[in-house]
Amino acid sequence: MASSLIDVEYNYKTICENIAKATQQCSKSESDVTLLAATKTVDAQTINHAISLGLSHIGENRVQELLSKYDDYNLSECSLQFIGHLQSNKVRQIIDKVDMIQSVDSLKLATEISRQAMLKNREMDILVEVNIGREENKSGVMPEMLDELLHQVKDLPAIYIKGLMAIPPICDNSHKICKYFDNMHKMFIDIKGKKIDNISMDVLSMGMSDDYVEAILCGSNMVRVGSALFGARNYNV
Ligand SMILES: *Cc1c(COP(=O)(O)O)cnc(C)c1O
Repeated sequence: MASSLIDVEYNYKTICENIAKATQQCSKSESDVTLLAATKTVDAQTINHAISLGLSHIGENRVQELLSKYDDYNLSECSLQFIGHLQSNKVRQIIDKVDMIQSVDSLKLATEISRQAMLKNREMDILVEVNIGREENKSGVMPEMLDELLHQVKDLPAIYIKGLMAIPPICDNSHKICKYFDNMHKMFIDIKGKKIDNISMDVLSMGMSDDYVEAILCGSNMVRVGSALFGARNYNV
C-alpha cells in the first residue's frame, strides 16, 4: 500500500478518536456527529480508500472536479455532498449526483435547485450557509437575513432545508472561533425551537481540520475535515 494511504488510515482513526472524545465531553454519543471528508484535490483512489475504512460522507467544492471524479467514487455506502460555492447555472450538472447541497445562500440559487430537482423528478436536501463572521467577499447569507431567506425557501417544491452550515473567519485562538460556533449553535437551536413547517434543523455543519473538536463542543453535529485526513493539499497537480 502506498505510504499516503497508510497515512490516511492513521489520520482517519485519529480523527474518529478525537470525535469520540469530544462527543463524550458533551455527553453525546459518537454517532451523533457525522464526519464528512472534504475531498477537494484528493484523487478518487485515496477517497475510496477512506471510504473502505468506514468514511460515510464526502464533500466536493467544485463542480468540474466533482464531475471529473464522479465515475470513480465508490458511493455504494457513502453520501456525496456539495460544500463549495455554487453558481446557479451549474446546479443542473450536479442535481442528480449529490445527496445534499450545503452551500445555499440565496433565493436565486435555492429556486434553481428546486427547479432542477423537479425536472429530474427528485428532492434535494440543502443546508443554508451563514456568513457568521460577516466577512465581505465570503459566501453565506448574513445572519440578520437568515430568517427571511429560510421563509422564502421553505415552500419551494422539491427542496428540503435540513440545517445550517458555516465557515467562520480564520481565528488565531480557540476562544475566538468558539464565539462564532456558539453564535451558529444559538441560531440553530432558535430556529429549531420555532418548529417551522418544512424546515427541520437536523444538521449543524461546522468545524474543519483545525477546529473540529471545538466545533463539536459548541454543538456541531457535522464536521468537514480535509487536510487533517488527507494531508496538506497540493493545488498544482
Ligand atoms: C476545504 C474545506 C473544508 C476542509 O478544510 P480543512 O481545513 O482542510 O479541513 C471544509 N469545508 C469546506 C467548505 C471546504 O472548502
